[in-house]
This record gives sequence, structure tokens and C-alpha cells, in this order.
Amino acid sequence: MESLSRTAVVEDLMERFPHVPREAVIKEDLLRGGMAFDESALSGGDDGDVKPKSYFIFSFDHRTLPELGAAALNRPPEEIVLTGGAYDMRRTVVSVRVNPDSPYRVRAGEDGSLGLYLDGVRIADVGLPPMPDYYRHKLSNGKSVMEVAPTIQWGYLIYLTVFRVCQYFGHKEECQYCDINHNWRQHKAAGRPYTGVKPSDEILEALQIIDRYDTARTSTAYTLTGGAITSHVGGKDEADFYGSYAKAIEEMFPERWIGKVVAQALPLDDVKRFHDYGVKIYHPNFEVWDKKLFELYCPGKERYVGRAEWHKRILDSTEVFGAENVIPNFVAGVEMAQPHGFTTVDEAIASTEEGLNFFMSHGVVPRFTTWCPEPTTPLGKANPAGAPLEYHIRLLETYRATLEKHGLSSPPGYGPAGPGRAVFSVSSFMDSLAPNEEAAPAV
Ligand code: SF4
Repeated sequence: MESLSRTAVVEDLMERFPHVPREAVIKEDLLRGGMAFDESALSGGDDGDVKPKSYFIFSFDHRTLPELGAAALNRPPEEIVLTGGAYDMRRTVVSVRVNPDSPYRVRAGEDGSLGLYLDGVRIADVGLPPMPDYYRHKLSNGKSVMEVAPTIQWGYLIYLTVFRVCQYFGHKEECQYCDINHNWRQHKAAGRPYTGVKPSDEILEALQIIDRYDTARTSTAYTLTGGAITSHVGGKDEADFYGSYAKAIEEMFPERWIGKVVAQALPLDDVKRFHDYGVKIYHPNFEVWDKKLFELYCPGKERYVGRAEWHKRILDSTEVFGAENVIPNFVAGVEMAQPHGFTTVDEAIASTEEGLNFFMSHGVVPRFTTWCPEPTTPLGKANPAGAPLEYHIRLLETYRATLEKHGLSSPPGYGPAGPGRAVFSVSSFMDSLAPNEEAAPAV
């Protein structure tokens, strides 16, 4: 009965929220609850024909690597693309979050073609990302491009997690939904290459390989990111540490890609340094809007900076980058994590809407990642099922309405918007907006 009820939940929401693309309902459910893979649908590892999951920053899985068995040894794909099927889906790119107990399963049908099955019924055709040419070439020290400079969003974004750990450490400082430190430990324990601090020359060498073999020029942006730096790494503070990579990249490849940095909300002088180094887009993530929840869920940020100062710095940074290029993220769904979160979807949406209005009234367009309740995080442990799907669907509706109310449009550096066109893979916010001017990539 459990499996039957998932289809019913999904179809009920599609009916009640007809303005939200049906593709987004399926995508949000896959992101919040994960998908299972038959072995036949796994990538074949680092030497196969399918682009494997790179574990680009967090695990984004519902089980730890030792619990995933075959899915850990023989990697799942980085993303899947859904088309057709019972809901007549337009092309929809979904980031892969593995959950062996999910009612969604990717497997081959009788004719051998891959499909997405919900409750045992095939609901969409599944395409896998081909192994990019640049992943087939190694750096001179033998490291893989996937390890040093993985790409996500169907190749649009080069994801440079240059610092694989966070200096907010332990349960009194780490954000309560974040497994960056655990993910680093589990990859080390599994004997996988997983560089803690990525040397700049390795990044540049990997980018040279991407630049050379990405002849279709699908890669459009890079993100520099990693854990928060509260003191120094290699003698550099956060702005100089992350900024120095941007400087090196921009010197070697001036404006080849849109440079983005995800970092803390830093004081204005530090933000200016990011800009001087060549960064074009700044992501000082606000994580969760509600005051009490921010204090509880982001204890390190609250202690070192504080919520009010964090928000002030976000707005101040628009002086440097321009409001349209300040794009703070929030983790959609943690508003409803128990025991402290909102208990009704109405309250959770009202709170998030207040935050969206706050930022959008200043011309700042936040974006969001759908919360994946990773099992080693305090919030994931207490809430393995994540937030209700209805929250995520109503958020898409509220987000679009608030954006339009403020006369704003989809943020830059996220690729094409609109159903059937978006490539942003870790939430459906771009799938749910009006089409923008960026061309959709070839299938
Ligand atoms: S600041 Fe929070 S979300 Fe960011 S890496 Fe550190 S613990 Fe994770």
C-alpha cells in the first residue's frame, strides 16, 4: 500500500497545483527522497561510458557509502534526464541522490531501455549523461579531472570545491543539515582520491583539459566553494583563499567562464577583494530564513557572524557586485525539520516567503537547493523522509509569484529557464520559471 500511496500523493499534487510543471513535481520528489538504481543502471565506474557521480561537495545520498553496496563500488550517474512517459515529461535534468528504499527506481525495461519506475510502473524514459571527453584525460600527476574539476548541470557548471572540509567543526558549529566533513571522511575511508585542499596548479591543469576537449563549449560557469574559513588556510583568509583561485583562472582564461564563489557573508572589504580577483557572482548563502531556526541550524554562522549581520552583509555586497549578481542560497525543506521546525506547510511557506520578499525587495534573487536529509547529519537523522512534497511544490509556486511581484527574473549563471529547458539539477526552481534567453542545450 505504501508504494501505491506515493503515486497517489504525486498525482494529487499535480492536480492541485496545475501551474507547477508536472516535471517539477517528479523532480522535487526525487531530490527530496532519492532514487534507487538497479545494477544495470549504474555508471560502470570511472572508465565506463556514463558520467559518474562525482560527490562534488556533499554526499547528497540517503545512505553512507558502506551502506550503498554496489552503488558505491560501481558509481551511479551524476544526473539523469527524464522524458516522455505517463506524464509526458519534457526534458528534465535531475541530480542523483541514491536511496535504495525509494519508491522510484531506475532500471532497464524488457526492451533494454532505461526507465524511471514509480511503484513498479514505468513513468518516464531515462537518459544518462555520456562520459565527457575531458573526463578521459588525466592530469600529469595522475589525478582525474572528475576529482579536481567535476562538472554538473549537464556540463554547464564546473564545480570547484577547493576546500573539502569546513572550519565550522563538530555539532556545536557545523550546519545541522550539512555533511561536508563527514563526506570527506567517508571518501578517505573508502580509499578514494579526495583532495582536502586543491592546489591551484591542479585546478588550472584540469581547466585546460576541459577547455581543450569541451569543443561544444557547454561549460559556461565555474563555482569556487568549500567549507567556511574562520581563520586561515595556507596563510590566507577566506576572501584571499577562494579569491586567489579566481585570480589564477581569470589570468589564464580571461572571461572564458562566468566566475562564481560560494562563501560566507563577508565584510565589504573582503567582498571587494572577491570582485577584484575577477569573481562575477557572489553566493553568500542565507540557508534558512526563520530567526530561531537559523540560530539552531547554523550555530557556527550565528556565533561568528550572527543572522542580522549576515543579512546586512548580503545587502551591502550588492554595492560591489550589483544586486542581480548576489544570489544567496537557502536549503529548501529544513524549515520543516523536526523537532524545531514548522509543523505545517502553511507556516513554513509563510516564513520562507517573508525571506524572499526581504531579499527580492532589494533586487536580490535567492535560489534554493532541495534539502537532501543525509543520514549522518543531525537533521537528516531525525527526519529521514525530509520535508513533505507539498512544501516543495508550494515553494515553487510561491517563489515564482514573489519573483514576478518584484518584477525580477531568473538569476544569471544558472543556464536556461523553463520546463524542458533547465539544466540546474539540485532543485526545480529553474524548471518552474518562464523561459529566459539562454539557449537550451542539445539533448
Ligand atoms: S558553513 Fe555550514 S553549510 Fe557551509 S560547509 Fe560549513 S557546515 Fe557546511
